[in-house]
Amino acid sequence: MNQISCELLKEKDHRVLDFLFYWKRPIRPGDLKKEVRIKHSTLNSTLKRLVETQLITWEKYGPVSLTSQGMEYAAHLSNHHFIIEKFLVDTLDLQKIQAHSEAIHLAGAFSCELIQKICQKYDLSHDTINPEYCTLDY
Ligand SMILES: [Zn+2]
Ligand SMILES: [Zn+2]
Repeated sequence: MNQISCELLKEKDHRVLDFLFYWKRPIRPGDLKKEVRIKHSTLNSTLKRLVETQLITWEKYGPVSLTSQGMEYAAHLSNHHFIIEKFLVDTLDLQKIQAHSEAIHLAGAFSCELIQKICQKYDLSHDTINPEYCTLDY
């Protein structure tokens, strides 16, 4: 398993990575801001941090895209979102739309250890990406 270091990045960084994984193509920061609903100044510092950690490429005024390392990291992170979403729907009977939005926020805060515990308990896979656990568009 390719574990991620959850202390390295903040919750908003995770939200951006999760979105970029779903989006699958370059996006302009102005459009990204609307999609992830993050304030302009916060998004700027988020993007700078992601460039520094080599997870995205972003030239000033140009589009943002995931590096191959970023793609791997984002896929793992999105999988956390999918697993949490399934957990919320199956165990707490949350409505899908609520489970999805809670999962996006929680994915940035859950450690791999915690995800692993959920996977063990409910027989889910931490290693394979499970987009089918998420039924909603962003
Ligand atoms: Zn979802
Ligand atoms: Zn993990």
